[in-house]
Amino acid sequence: MITCKDVVKTFGKLEVLKGIDLDVAPGEVVVIIGPSGSGKSTFLRCMNHLEAADSGTITINGKLVETKESSLNKLRQDIGMVFQQFNLFPHMTVMENIIEAPVLLKKMTKDQAKKKGLELLKKVGLEEKANEYPNRLSGGQKQRVAIARALAMEPKIMLFDEPTSALDPELVGEVLTVMKQLAKEGMTMVVVTHEMGFAKEVADRVIFMDGGYIIEQGSPKMIFETPQHERTKEFLGHLK
Ligand code: ADP
Ligand code: MG
Repeated sequence: MITCKDVVKTFGKLEVLKGIDLDVAPGEVVVIIGPSGSGKSTFLRCMNHLEAADSGTITINGKLVETKESSLNKLRQDIGMVFQQFNLFPHMTVMENIIEAPVLLKKMTKDQAKKKGLELLKKVGLEEKANEYPNRLSGGQKQRVAIARALAMEPKIMLFDEPTSALDPELVGEVLTVMKQLAKEGMTMVVVTHEMGFAKEVADRVIFMDGGYIIEQGSPKMIFETPQHERTKEFLGHLK
């Protein structure tokens, strides 16, 4: 579903991704962990071309990620992204947020999109909030709306960049529950998170990134119980 080959990204003189290779199979849940500044967000952003990689190739669902406007729109329809800061449109209700992209991009009529929107709100447990504005929701509710909004485009892949890092601790669980459900339904997911419990329970594979490289990867059991590299051990040690 995702193939990355030798992906390099620099900002000025700073080389942030130093040649990353990654294959993600359909239905696979990959969790990326690593210290702040190691390039995790940049890597995710390259996958849906919010950043352009300097070199290397990224293929999503058989399509090469490239800069042409037309192919970019198609690419972004295949990929849903959820950010730490929710990024909901504040002047729109929950339902308006959800139907905006599918209607604008003519994927669905307004009625179809609303019907789908209601299903998705049910799925994330927020059907009673359809006509609410984002500033009247808790962080956990906002993030569940953001997930529903991403799903409204019927993506084949979901990218999550620290989706629970901005939440009060008691609100983290409700968002992780929605993500677990998605994983169970077979969604292909790449998740950057510090929630090691989620990684242990849900990930098919855990990737440790540091300094612009993938240092080590394997099953959650391998990475958490028998990490091979000093940097992985050190990082995991700091979390305890
Ligand atoms: P992580 O998500 O692992 O914390 P990031 O991918 O956000 O790491 O950042 C990796 C490095 O790239 C950091 O040193 C960060 O300051 C730098 N960086 C990220 N985005 C930009 C940008 N748009 N311009 C310049 N530097 C950036
Ligand atoms: Mg980040």
